[in-house]
Amino acid sequence: MTNRFLDLAAAGICGLRPYQPGKPIAELEREYGVTDIVKLASNENPLGPGPRALAAIAVASGDLARYPDANGYELKNALAARHGVTPDCVTLGNGSNDVLVLLAEVFLRPGLGAVYSRHAFAVYALAVQAAGATHLVADALPVEDEQPFGHDLDAMAALVGPETRMVFIANPNNPTGTWLEAGALEGFIGALPEHLVVVIDEAYSEYVRESDYPETTRWLARYPNLVVTRTFSKAFGLAGLRMGYAVSSPEIADLLNRVRQPFNTNSLAQAAALAALGDEAHLARSVEINAAGLQRVGQACAALGLGVVPSVGNFLLVDMGTEAALLYEALLREAVIVRPVGNYGLPNHLRISIGTPAENDRLIAALNKVLGT
Ligand code: PMP
Repeated sequence: MTNRFLDLAAAGICGLRPYQPGKPIAELEREYGVTDIVKLASNENPLGPGPRALAAIAVASGDLARYPDANGYELKNALAARHGVTPDCVTLGNGSNDVLVLLAEVFLRPGLGAVYSRHAFAVYALAVQAAGATHLVADALPVEDEQPFGHDLDAMAALVGPETRMVFIANPNNPTGTWLEAGALEGFIGALPEHLVVVIDEAYSEYVRESDYPETTRWLARYPNLVVTRTFSKAFGLAGLRMGYAVSSPEIADLLNRVRQPFNTNSLAQAAALAALGDEAHLARSVEINAAGLQRVGQACAALGLGVVPSVGNFLLVDMGTEAALLYEALLREAVIVRPVGNYGLPNHLRISIGTPAENDRLIAALNKVLGT
Protein backbone atom coordinates (compact mmCIF):
# COMPACT_ATOMS: atom_id res chain seq x y z
CA MET A 1 0.00 0.00 0.00
CA THR A 2 1.38 3.44 -0.84
CA ASN A 3 0.94 5.69 2.15
CA ARG A 4 0.38 9.37 1.40
CA PHE A 5 1.18 10.32 4.97
CA LEU A 6 4.56 8.59 5.17
CA ASP A 7 6.48 11.83 4.69
CA LEU A 8 4.65 13.35 7.62
CA ALA A 9 5.55 10.57 10.06
CA ALA A 10 8.46 10.83 12.51
CA ALA A 11 11.74 9.57 11.06
CA GLY A 12 11.87 6.25 12.89
CA ILE A 13 8.24 5.40 12.16
CA CYS A 14 8.76 5.31 8.36
CA GLY A 15 11.14 2.36 8.77
CA LEU A 16 8.84 0.39 11.08
CA ARG A 17 7.19 -2.90 10.17
CA PRO A 18 4.35 -4.06 12.42
CA TYR A 19 5.06 -6.83 14.94
CA GLN A 20 4.01 -10.23 13.61
CA PRO A 21 2.03 -12.03 16.30
CA GLY A 22 1.19 -15.74 16.40
CA LYS A 23 -1.84 -16.55 14.28
CA PRO A 24 -5.00 -16.26 16.39
CA ILE A 25 -7.22 -19.37 16.64
CA ALA A 26 -10.28 -17.54 15.26
CA GLU A 27 -8.29 -16.42 12.20
CA LEU A 28 -7.23 -19.98 11.37
CA GLU A 29 -10.86 -21.09 11.77
CA ARG A 30 -12.00 -18.39 9.34
CA GLU A 31 -9.24 -18.96 6.79
CA TYR A 32 -8.89 -22.75 6.77
CA GLY A 33 -12.30 -23.87 8.06
CA VAL A 34 -10.62 -26.13 10.63
CA THR A 35 -11.80 -26.59 14.21
CA ASP A 36 -10.41 -28.08 17.42
CA ILE A 37 -7.30 -25.97 16.98
CA VAL A 38 -4.13 -26.31 19.03
CA LYS A 39 -2.28 -23.00 19.33
CA LEU A 40 1.38 -23.34 20.25
CA ALA A 41 2.47 -20.05 18.74
CA SER A 42 2.68 -17.35 21.41
CA ASN A 43 4.37 -18.98 24.41
CA GLU A 44 1.24 -18.77 26.52
CA ASN A 45 0.56 -20.87 29.62
CA PRO A 46 -1.54 -23.82 28.42
CA LEU A 47 -3.14 -24.13 31.87
CA GLY A 48 -4.43 -20.55 31.71
CA PRO A 49 -4.80 -18.40 34.81
CA GLY A 50 -4.93 -20.03 38.23
CA PRO A 51 -8.09 -20.20 40.37
CA ARG A 52 -7.03 -17.31 42.60
CA ALA A 53 -6.51 -14.97 39.64
CA LEU A 54 -9.88 -15.93 38.18
CA ALA A 55 -11.62 -15.30 41.50
CA ALA A 56 -9.94 -11.90 41.80
CA ILE A 57 -11.08 -10.96 38.29
CA ALA A 58 -14.67 -11.87 39.21
CA VAL A 59 -14.52 -9.59 42.24
CA ALA A 60 -12.79 -6.71 40.41
CA SER A 61 -15.27 -6.87 37.54
CA GLY A 62 -17.87 -5.50 39.95
CA ASP A 63 -16.11 -2.15 39.90
CA LEU A 64 -15.42 -1.60 36.21
CA ALA A 65 -17.03 1.84 36.06
CA ARG A 66 -14.13 3.16 38.13
CA TYR A 67 -10.71 4.01 36.75
CA PRO A 68 -7.97 1.66 37.89
CA ASP A 69 -5.49 2.73 40.57
CA ALA A 70 -3.09 4.76 38.42
CA ASN A 71 -0.23 3.88 40.76
CA GLY A 72 -1.09 0.20 41.14
CA TYR A 73 -0.41 0.54 44.86
CA GLU A 74 -1.14 -2.98 46.05
CA LEU A 75 0.49 -4.79 43.14
CA LYS A 76 3.61 -2.64 43.28
CA ASN A 77 3.95 -3.32 46.99
CA ALA A 78 3.63 -7.05 46.45
CA LEU A 79 6.17 -6.98 43.60
CA ALA A 80 8.57 -4.87 45.63
CA ALA A 81 8.42 -7.41 48.46
CA ARG A 82 8.99 -10.25 45.99
CA HIS A 83 12.10 -8.63 44.57
CA GLY A 84 13.52 -7.11 47.74
CA VAL A 85 13.16 -3.49 46.59
CA THR A 86 11.02 -0.51 47.57
CA PRO A 87 7.75 0.11 45.65
CA ASP A 88 9.20 3.20 43.97
CA CYS A 89 11.49 0.85 42.02
CA VAL A 90 8.55 -0.81 40.26
CA THR A 91 6.89 0.46 37.07
CA LEU A 92 3.79 -1.34 35.84
CA GLY A 93 3.15 -1.77 32.13
CA ASN A 94 0.47 -2.96 29.76
CA GLY A 95 2.47 -6.13 29.33
CA SER A 96 6.24 -5.96 29.61
CA ASN A 97 6.17 -4.86 25.96
CA ASP A 98 4.84 -1.54 27.23
CA VAL A 99 7.78 -0.95 29.59
CA LEU A 100 10.29 -1.98 26.91
CA VAL A 101 8.86 0.68 24.61
CA LEU A 102 8.75 3.25 27.43
CA LEU A 103 12.43 2.63 28.12
CA ALA A 104 13.32 3.31 24.50
CA GLU A 105 11.12 6.40 24.53
CA VAL A 106 12.90 7.75 27.59
CA PHE A 107 16.51 6.98 26.69
CA LEU A 108 16.78 6.77 22.89
CA ARG A 109 16.57 9.32 20.12
CA PRO A 110 18.16 9.87 16.69
CA GLY A 111 21.94 9.88 16.99
CA LEU A 112 21.98 7.45 19.93
CA GLY A 113 22.21 3.68 19.67
CA ALA A 114 21.04 0.50 21.35
CA VAL A 115 22.77 -2.88 21.32
CA TYR A 116 20.89 -6.16 21.02
CA SER A 117 21.69 -9.60 19.71
CA ARG A 118 20.72 -11.06 16.36
CA HIS A 119 17.73 -13.40 16.90
CA ALA A 120 16.79 -11.46 20.06
CA PHE A 121 13.13 -10.73 20.88
CA ALA A 122 11.67 -8.66 18.02
CA VAL A 123 10.29 -5.83 20.14
CA TYR A 124 13.78 -4.42 20.87
CA ALA A 125 14.30 -3.63 17.19
CA LEU A 126 10.81 -2.11 16.98
CA ALA A 127 11.34 0.09 20.04
CA VAL A 128 14.74 1.29 18.80
CA GLN A 129 13.33 1.97 15.34
CA ALA A 130 10.30 3.88 16.66
CA ALA A 131 12.65 6.12 18.66
CA GLY A 132 14.65 6.83 15.48
CA ALA A 133 17.79 5.50 17.17
CA THR A 134 20.60 3.38 15.71
CA HIS A 135 20.47 -0.42 15.78
CA LEU A 136 23.70 -2.03 16.97
CA VAL A 137 23.09 -5.71 16.27
CA ALA A 138 25.65 -8.16 17.64
CA ASP A 139 26.28 -11.48 15.96
CA ALA A 140 24.82 -14.37 17.91
CA LEU A 141 26.72 -17.40 19.19
CA PRO A 142 27.32 -20.00 16.47
CA VAL A 143 25.06 -23.00 16.05
CA GLU A 144 27.78 -25.31 17.46
CA ASP A 145 27.82 -23.38 20.76
CA GLU A 146 26.24 -24.82 23.92
CA GLN A 147 23.74 -21.96 23.49
CA PRO A 148 23.09 -22.05 19.73
CA PHE A 149 22.02 -18.63 18.38
CA GLY A 150 22.28 -17.26 21.94
CA HIS A 151 23.60 -13.87 23.07
CA ASP A 152 27.35 -13.40 22.58
CA LEU A 153 28.17 -10.96 25.40
CA ASP A 154 31.66 -10.22 24.05
CA ALA A 155 30.24 -9.34 20.64
CA MET A 156 27.63 -7.13 22.33
CA ALA A 157 30.22 -5.34 24.49
CA ALA A 158 32.36 -4.69 21.41
CA LEU A 159 29.54 -2.63 19.86
CA VAL A 160 29.25 -0.21 22.79
CA GLY A 161 30.47 3.30 21.94
CA PRO A 162 30.06 6.82 23.34
CA GLU A 163 26.65 7.22 21.67
CA THR A 164 25.29 3.91 22.94
CA ARG A 165 22.60 4.42 25.56
CA MET A 166 20.98 1.05 25.91
CA VAL A 167 21.57 -2.68 25.80
CA PHE A 168 18.71 -5.18 25.56
CA ILE A 169 19.27 -8.70 26.81
CA ALA A 170 16.60 -11.38 26.87
CA ASN A 171 17.31 -13.99 29.51
CA PRO A 172 16.10 -16.47 28.45
CA ASN A 173 15.79 -15.26 24.90
CA ASN A 174 12.78 -15.72 22.66
CA PRO A 175 12.80 -17.37 20.09
CA THR A 176 16.00 -19.28 20.88
CA GLY A 177 15.30 -20.41 24.47
CA THR A 178 18.97 -19.79 25.27
CA TRP A 179 20.07 -18.22 28.55
CA LEU A 180 22.92 -16.51 30.37
CA GLU A 181 24.38 -17.54 33.71
CA ALA A 182 24.91 -15.18 36.63
CA GLY A 183 28.70 -14.88 36.47
CA ALA A 184 28.91 -14.06 32.78
CA LEU A 185 26.00 -11.63 32.91
CA GLU A 186 27.24 -9.74 35.95
CA GLY A 187 30.74 -9.53 34.46
CA PHE A 188 29.21 -7.99 31.33
CA ILE A 189 27.09 -5.45 33.23
CA GLY A 190 29.93 -4.49 35.57
CA ALA A 191 32.25 -3.68 32.64
CA LEU A 192 29.77 -1.35 30.90
CA PRO A 193 29.93 2.42 31.28
CA GLU A 194 27.27 3.85 33.59
CA HIS A 195 25.76 6.14 30.95
CA LEU A 196 24.22 3.05 29.45
CA VAL A 197 20.91 1.54 30.53
CA VAL A 198 21.03 -2.26 30.64
CA VAL A 199 17.64 -3.89 30.16
CA ILE A 200 17.40 -7.53 31.19
CA ASP A 201 14.15 -8.94 29.86
CA GLU A 202 13.13 -11.88 32.04
CA ALA A 203 9.73 -12.69 30.52
CA TYR A 204 10.35 -16.44 30.94
CA SER A 205 12.37 -16.39 34.16
CA GLU A 206 9.83 -18.32 36.25
CA TYR A 207 10.34 -21.34 34.00
CA VAL A 208 14.10 -21.48 34.41
CA ARG A 209 15.37 -24.19 36.75
CA GLU A 210 19.13 -23.84 36.19
CA SER A 211 20.93 -23.18 39.48
CA ASP A 212 23.23 -20.46 38.10
CA TYR A 213 20.40 -18.47 36.54
CA PRO A 214 20.79 -15.00 38.10
CA GLU A 215 18.48 -13.16 40.47
CA THR A 216 19.18 -9.87 38.77
CA THR A 217 16.77 -7.75 40.81
CA ARG A 218 19.20 -8.33 43.72
CA TRP A 219 21.89 -6.54 41.72
CA LEU A 220 20.05 -3.22 41.51
CA ALA A 221 21.84 -1.69 44.48
CA ARG A 222 25.18 -2.33 42.74
CA TYR A 223 24.10 -1.27 39.24
CA PRO A 224 21.73 1.73 39.23
CA ASN A 225 21.69 1.62 35.40
CA LEU A 226 20.10 -1.85 35.42
CA VAL A 227 16.43 -2.43 34.53
CA VAL A 228 14.80 -5.84 34.85
CA THR A 229 11.51 -6.50 33.08
CA ARG A 230 9.07 -9.28 33.94
CA THR A 231 5.59 -10.28 32.84
CA PHE A 232 2.41 -12.01 33.93
CA SER A 233 1.83 -13.20 30.35
CA LYS A 234 3.85 -16.41 30.51
CA ALA A 235 4.13 -18.62 33.59
CA PHE A 236 1.34 -16.70 35.38
CA GLY A 237 -1.05 -17.36 32.50
CA LEU A 238 -2.44 -13.83 32.10
CA ALA A 239 -1.36 -12.84 28.58
CA GLY A 240 -4.84 -11.62 27.65
CA LEU A 241 -5.00 -9.17 30.53
CA ARG A 242 -1.70 -7.44 29.73
CA MET A 243 0.39 -6.90 32.84
CA GLY A 244 4.16 -6.58 33.00
CA TYR A 245 6.60 -4.50 34.99
CA ALA A 246 10.08 -3.10 35.29
CA VAL A 247 12.23 -3.16 38.42
CA SER A 248 14.87 -0.44 38.41
CA SER A 249 16.41 2.34 40.46
CA PRO A 250 13.79 4.83 41.70
CA GLU A 251 15.33 7.42 39.35
CA ILE A 252 14.72 5.34 36.23
CA ALA A 253 11.25 4.41 37.50
CA ASP A 254 10.55 8.12 37.94
CA LEU A 255 11.38 8.77 34.28
CA LEU A 256 9.24 5.85 33.11
CA ASN A 257 6.40 7.21 35.20
CA ARG A 258 6.62 10.55 33.44
CA VAL A 259 5.92 9.03 30.03
CA ARG A 260 3.60 6.13 30.78
CA GLN A 261 -0.12 6.68 30.36
CA PRO A 262 -1.70 7.27 33.77
CA PHE A 263 -4.00 4.26 33.37
CA ASN A 264 -1.78 1.96 31.31
CA THR A 265 -2.68 -1.09 33.40
CA ASN A 266 -6.31 -1.98 33.91
CA SER A 267 -8.08 -2.89 37.13
CA LEU A 268 -8.76 -6.53 36.23
CA ALA A 269 -5.11 -7.05 35.37
CA GLN A 270 -3.94 -5.43 38.60
CA ALA A 271 -6.26 -7.58 40.70
CA ALA A 272 -5.48 -10.80 38.82
CA ALA A 273 -1.72 -10.24 38.92
CA LEU A 274 -1.81 -9.60 42.66
CA ALA A 275 -3.76 -12.81 43.23
CA ALA A 276 -1.51 -14.77 40.84
CA LEU A 277 1.55 -13.74 42.85
CA GLY A 278 0.00 -15.45 45.85
CA ASP A 279 -0.85 -18.63 43.97
CA GLU A 280 2.40 -20.55 44.33
CA ALA A 281 0.65 -23.85 43.61
CA HIS A 282 -0.54 -22.79 40.18
CA LEU A 283 2.86 -21.39 39.30
CA ALA A 284 4.59 -24.59 40.42
CA ARG A 285 2.16 -26.71 38.41
CA SER A 286 2.69 -24.53 35.34
CA VAL A 287 6.47 -24.87 35.61
CA GLU A 288 6.20 -28.62 36.20
CA ILE A 289 3.99 -29.31 33.22
CA ASN A 290 6.26 -27.16 31.07
CA ALA A 291 9.41 -29.04 32.08
CA ALA A 292 7.78 -32.38 31.24
CA GLY A 293 6.44 -30.99 27.96
CA LEU A 294 9.81 -29.55 26.95
CA GLN A 295 11.35 -32.93 27.37
CA ARG A 296 8.60 -34.80 25.57
CA VAL A 297 8.38 -32.45 22.56
CA GLY A 298 12.17 -32.13 22.39
CA GLN A 299 12.62 -35.89 22.33
CA ALA A 300 9.88 -36.34 19.73
CA CYS A 301 11.47 -33.73 17.46
CA ALA A 302 14.90 -35.28 17.86
CA ALA A 303 13.43 -38.70 17.05
CA LEU A 304 12.15 -37.16 13.81
CA GLY A 305 15.71 -36.13 12.99
CA LEU A 306 15.05 -32.45 13.64
CA GLY A 307 17.61 -30.20 15.33
CA VAL A 308 16.40 -28.94 18.69
CA VAL A 309 17.93 -25.91 20.42
CA PRO A 310 18.08 -26.62 24.19
CA SER A 311 15.55 -24.32 25.85
CA VAL A 312 14.91 -23.13 29.40
CA GLY A 313 11.70 -21.30 28.40
CA ASN A 314 8.25 -22.64 27.53
CA PHE A 315 9.01 -23.13 23.85
CA LEU A 316 11.46 -24.88 21.57
CA LEU A 317 13.29 -23.63 18.52
CA VAL A 318 13.39 -26.50 16.05
CA ASP A 319 15.50 -26.75 12.90
CA MET A 320 13.27 -28.31 10.25
CA GLY A 321 16.27 -28.89 7.98
CA THR A 322 14.55 -27.06 5.15
CA GLU A 323 12.60 -23.85 4.48
CA ALA A 324 10.05 -24.01 7.33
CA ALA A 325 7.27 -21.87 5.79
CA LEU A 326 5.68 -24.79 3.92
CA LEU A 327 5.76 -27.02 6.98
CA TYR A 328 4.16 -24.21 8.98
CA GLU A 329 1.33 -24.11 6.41
CA ALA A 330 1.01 -27.88 6.45
CA LEU A 331 0.69 -27.83 10.25
CA LEU A 332 -2.02 -25.16 9.97
CA ARG A 333 -4.02 -27.57 7.82
CA GLU A 334 -3.69 -30.07 10.69
CA ALA A 335 -5.16 -27.35 12.95
CA VAL A 336 -1.87 -26.83 14.78
CA ILE A 337 -0.50 -23.29 14.95
CA VAL A 338 3.22 -22.87 15.60
CA ARG A 339 5.42 -19.86 14.88
CA PRO A 340 7.55 -19.37 11.78
CA VAL A 341 10.66 -17.35 12.64
CA GLY A 342 11.91 -16.24 9.23
CA ASN A 343 11.54 -12.66 10.49
CA TYR A 344 14.14 -13.54 13.15
CA GLY A 345 16.62 -14.58 10.46
CA LEU A 346 15.84 -18.25 11.07
CA PRO A 347 13.97 -19.35 7.91
CA ASN A 348 14.56 -23.08 8.51
CA HIS A 349 13.27 -23.07 12.07
CA LEU A 350 9.89 -23.17 13.74
CA ARG A 351 9.24 -22.04 17.30
CA ILE A 352 6.91 -24.39 19.11
CA SER A 353 5.33 -23.43 22.42
CA ILE A 354 4.88 -26.19 24.98
CA GLY A 355 1.23 -27.09 25.56
CA THR A 356 -0.73 -29.47 27.75
CA PRO A 357 0.18 -33.15 27.35
CA ALA A 358 -2.79 -33.56 24.99
CA GLU A 359 -1.76 -30.54 22.92
CA ASN A 360 1.81 -31.78 22.74
CA ASP A 361 0.50 -35.14 21.49
CA ARG A 362 -1.50 -33.38 18.80
CA LEU A 363 1.57 -31.44 17.74
CA ILE A 364 3.75 -34.55 17.59
CA ALA A 365 1.14 -36.45 15.56
CA ALA A 366 0.81 -33.51 13.16
CA LEU A 367 4.58 -33.22 12.79
CA ASN A 368 4.82 -36.93 12.00
CA LYS A 369 2.08 -36.54 9.40
CA VAL A 370 3.46 -33.48 7.61
CA LEU A 371 6.97 -34.89 7.60
CA GLY A 372 5.59 -38.11 6.09
CA THR A 373 6.90 -40.44 8.77
N1 PMP B 1 9.95 -10.31 26.25
C1 PMP B 1 10.03 -11.48 25.62
C2 PMP B 1 11.35 -12.15 25.53
C3 PMP B 1 8.87 -12.05 25.05
O1 PMP B 1 8.96 -13.21 24.40
C4 PMP B 1 7.64 -11.36 25.16
C5 PMP B 1 6.36 -11.90 24.55
N2 PMP B 1 6.42 -12.69 23.51
C6 PMP B 1 7.64 -10.15 25.82
C7 PMP B 1 8.80 -9.65 26.37
C8 PMP B 1 6.41 -9.30 25.93
O2 PMP B 1 5.39 -9.95 26.56
P1 PMP B 1 4.23 -9.16 27.31
O3 PMP B 1 4.09 -7.83 26.67
O4 PMP B 1 3.04 -10.01 27.12
O5 PMP B 1 4.67 -9.04 28.73
